Amino acid sequence: MKKDIEKVGTECAVCGPESDEVVAVVREHEYSNTTEDLFTLVRCRRCGAIRLNPRPAVSEISTLYPSDYFAYDLNPAAGGNKWSPKAISLRRESRRLSSLVRRHSVRAPQSVYDIGCGDGTTLSLMAELFGPNVRTFGCEVNADASARARNAGHDIQNSLFEECELDRNTYDLLLSSHVIEHVASPREFLSKAASMMGPESVFILDTPNVANPVRRLFGRHWGGWHTPRHWNLFDPRSISELADKTGLQVVAIQQMTINMFWVWGMHSLVATKYPRTAEKFFNPRKTITGGTWSLLSLVLFQVLDRVLLVITRRGGQMRVVLKQSSGN
Ligand SMILES: [Zn+2]
Repeated sequence: MKKDIEKVGTECAVCGPESDEVVAVVREHEYSNTTEDLFTLVRCRRCGAIRLNPRPAVSEISTLYPSDYFAYDLNPAAGGNKWSPKAISLRRESRRLSSLVRRHSVRAPQSVYDIGCGDGTTLSLMAELFGPNVRTFGCEVNADASARARNAGHDIQNSLFEECELDRNTYDLLLSSHVIEHVASPREFLSKAASMMGPESVFILDTPNVANPVRRLFGRHWGGWHTPRHWNLFDPRSISELADKTGLQVVAIQQMTINMFWVWGMHSLVATKYPRTAEKFFNPRKTITGGTWSLLSLVLFQVLDRVLLVITRRGGQMRVVLKQSSGN
């Protein structure tokens, strides 16, 4: 574990310099090979966005994302078994994305760009959905994942989105799942995305939602903090205000469940007193790829999360649909 990693002071991603209040002081609990430093989460009093202040410097990215980082754990899709949990969840995701795109697009997309595309799974879903003529592009910082996405037939750059060079003006559909909360400047991130959109383009962005009951339940142990890797966290209001400042407008927000945050939250909570038990039952690095117990716990947390979402109409993540502002 590194000590005293390089950090930089931050302002609210939406408002700039504004007065803040401390939400929690947290530390890494998921990985034992990153940093033992403490981090302070602060909430902007004006817009409600929550961020790390100070946050790790970009130069520490390789410290924060070790080689066993869970999102890099690319188990091949369960080949052939259409009833495997992965296959079932992919079909569900495909249906959801398809209905959202059809609702907000005037025509079927001919070009799709996935920001932080991983191994290209979502791009492959889009190719299946929208037919052989759709062109699929993406950028991905992890080299193994981007190689896999390329092998699957997608046009991929292996780099941070901020550094990606774009070879065409606009894309019909932009996707980004759980990336904006990891980047140094969410405003630059959205501005760059906006520059890739035409008047009919649709951008579907998934990110945690801090305005949800599970966050209140877990407090400083909420799984969505994912400290020190989540630098900026939003709610529907703050993400809409940020979009406004980048030439985009939010046209819809879907509240969604996220059972993984329960596993990470339980790990944080239990590990304060019983670290070995936490590792055994709520291993945050094997949330998706663990055995029977992790599957069962995910199902249980999914049910709980769904019940809370139905009652409160708020989920631990939100799917934000963005278009160009009508003034553009
Ligand atoms: Zn603010």
